Amino acid sequence: MALHQVRPRILGFISEDVSAWLVASLVLLAGAFVTGLLTWAMASLFNQQLRQRFELQTQERFSRIEERFQDQEQRLDSLRRFFANSAGVFEREFHGYAEALLRRTQAFAWAPRVLRDERSSFEQQARTEGGDTFSIREPDDSGGLRLAAERDEYVPVLYLQSQPSFKAIRGLDLLAQPLRRATLERARQRDTMVVSQPLDLVGEASTTVRGVLLVAPVSRTWSREPFGYVVAAVSMHQLVGDGLPAPGQDNLAMRVMDLSADDREEVLFESLDPPGESDLSATRLLRLADRDYRIELRPSRIFLSTNPSSVASLVVLGGLLSLLLSALLYVLVSQRQRALQLVELRTRELREREQELRGTHGQLRGVLDAATQVAIIATDLRGVITTFNAGAEQMLGYDSGEVLHSMTLESLHLPRELQARAVQLAARYGKPIPTCHAMLVEGGEQGGQQAREWTLVRRDGTHLTVNMLATPMLDDQGLWIGHLAICIDITERKRVHEALAARDLLLKKLSAHVPGGIYQFKMDFNGRFSVIYASDGIRDIYELEPEILVRNAESIFSRIHPLDSARVRRSIRTSADTLSPWREEYRLQLPQRGLRWVRGEATPEELPGGGVLWHGYISDISDLKRVEEELRALSVTDALTGIRNRRYFQERLTTEMARVERGTGELAVIMLDIDHFKRINDQHGHAVGDRVLQAVCQRITQRLRRTDVFCRLGGEEFVVLCPDTDGESAHALAVGLWEGLRSAPIEDVGVITASFGIATWRVGEGADALLLRADSGVYVAKQAGRDRVEAQLG
Ligand code: GH3
Ligand code: MG
Ligand code: MG
Repeated sequence: MALHQVRPRILGFISEDVSAWLVASLVLLAGAFVTGLLTWAMASLFNQQLRQRFELQTQERFSRIEERFQDQEQRLDSLRRFFANSAGVFEREFHGYAEALLRRTQAFAWAPRVLRDERSSFEQQARTEGGDTFSIREPDDSGGLRLAAERDEYVPVLYLQSQPSFKAIRGLDLLAQPLRRATLERARQRDTMVVSQPLDLVGEASTTVRGVLLVAPVSRTWSREPFGYVVAAVSMHQLVGDGLPAPGQDNLAMRVMDLSADDREEVLFESLDPPGESDLSATRLLRLADRDYRIELRPSRIFLSTNPSSVASLVVLGGLLSLLLSALLYVLVSQRQRALQLVELRTRELREREQELRGTHGQLRGVLDAATQVAIIATDLRGVITTFNAGAEQMLGYDSGEVLHSMTLESLHLPRELQARAVQLAARYGKPIPTCHAMLVEGGEQGGQQAREWTLVRRDGTHLTVNMLATPMLDDQGLWIGHLAICIDITERKRVHEALAARDLLLKKLSAHVPGGIYQFKMDFNGRFSVIYASDGIRDIYELEPEILVRNAESIFSRIHPLDSARVRRSIRTSADTLSPWREEYRLQLPQRGLRWVRGEATPEELPGGGVLWHGYISDISDLKRVEEELRALSVTDALTGIRNRRYFQERLTTEMARVERGTGELAVIMLDIDHFKRINDQHGHAVGDRVLQAVCQRITQRLRRTDVFCRLGGEEFVVLCPDTDGESAHALAVGLWEGLRSAPIEDVGVITASFGIATWRVGEGADALLLRADSGVYVAKQAGRDRVEAQLG
């Protein structure tokens, strides 16, 4: 099934193959475009609103300035009418009237026209009226004032109502200075209120104030010729600036331009706040008296900042939204693509796994069927068979087709065996166990899950003994899904086992009837001994239980006589080294029977691992040993006298010679021969002679020490072997024997004497030489008359 055939589009319109970057870029571009459009519309709206707000404020500002201009005109005109309509105005009256008018005006002044010839009287009158120092004056070149020069006409300031900071000088002739005179001239000619060009207002105390003079001619109703002028000194700065918001708070940046001079424009007022960055501006010409002033208004920075454009925010917001949208789409598309790739990858992996699983399943099936010696039977939870391999078919004679999903594991069992097991399990667990579970329930025997012997019934009804291991089958989540029974046909094994048991029994019986015991004894490659098998006979020989023997082979050596133990070990090693049959006779020191002699024989066999295995037989030879010892005693005993014979003497002499030759101790030999024994025989008969021999031996034996060895050399010749005896002691002993013999007469025969010869061993002397010297001693004693002890010969 091809997934890509039904692949849907992302969000319904984006193909899944389109790059996420492309989608994100396109969305970003579209977002930027929409943001641009919105920004443009927003900016237009904003500018329109800003312009309207600005225009509103400029209207208001223009109106206010215009009002002020008119107000100034009206005030001056009011003062003019005050003078025009009064016959004469005293200074006090002037002050009283003008004071109320003094608002946004630096000063109001009354300047009457004074002709040349009226000057002195005028000055005189003025002095009388107001100040002693009054005189008509004019500005000098150094910035000060001087008395006015002689002219046809003067217009001196007579009354002055000014603001406290404005210190105008009374008496200043307004005609003295061309600018002022031109203004007065213009006012007189036009007979109307005029305004001067900008000038420095004289009289300002500390700073010169740039301002204008508003001049109105005062005349009587009947005459056009003015008799004086009312003058208002107006600081344009104060006039338009008064009442404006504090610097930094004014929305408008304002400039008031004077247009009176043809060649240049003078700035009469300029806001402290500089204009902001904007192309908004408004200009209007406002008339004060006979002149127009240009008022220029521009939005101040504060205006712009209090009317912020939301365009930037819109751009940022739009940009962010576009970015967000494009990022979102990027994530969406790329995640979707990744998810699809993952799905494809997983699908591919799944297919591969499926393939693998099929392969594994095939292999498993192959393994199950290849295991023809093992019956593998799986069941579901109800016990119904779901797997029945070739081994099971072969063992039980069923075809898997007739077993699968129709027969149960229980139906393959021998019913009575299952019932017996169910009863047994019920007794153990204290609750009834159904027979169908009897082969599955653990018996609780040691070792847990263990194979158990069962009898299965073949298709043809014959029985089959199997070893069955039943285990629960769990799925991936550990849930119980059924059982798995693995059965091995043990009929043959059982037969072999029984045959072996029969053989063991036979061996046991046979060995029970054999005197002695049979065994298998093993030496490891590292020299450690172990008993593999020991028959019951071994127990009697060693007085050890066969189990102890098998467990600890060293226990054998604890029973062996200490004098024989090392020899036995040695011989075993030799047999192992040379693989020669082992045969050894040794003594045992047994707890109950005491000292016993045994004989062991075994045949070694090299083991593949480097050890040696012996098959052997051990028998008790204590009785045999005793007979041997008796025979041996007989062979070295003189039959007539019961003392040791010549053979024994020879053996002992050889042993003792070897000892003294090793340098340990001394050795003496006493030889004796009965005197005239022939006569006894002759006189009393041979039997009496025998009795005499016996009696002599008895007497001599009585006198010997335990270490002395008394032997009959033959006939009536005897020898005493005295180990560790020097010549002197030997002589004393010989004398003792000689006296003992001659002092005790023998019944019916009388005193018997003997001749004694002595020899003690000399370094480097052989046995023969030693005996010869003793024999020579006997000979010398005989020669000397018998019945004596001959001292050792030189
Ligand atoms: P002398 O040694 O004093 O010179 O005299 P003798 O008679 O003892 O010397 P001789 O060696 O000639 O004789 C030894 C005799 O001992 C000869 C032999 O008949 C006798 N005789 C040897 N063996 C036995 C024995 O077993 N029994 C008896 N009754 N007589 C024996
Ligand atoms: Mg003799
Ligand atoms: Mg003799």
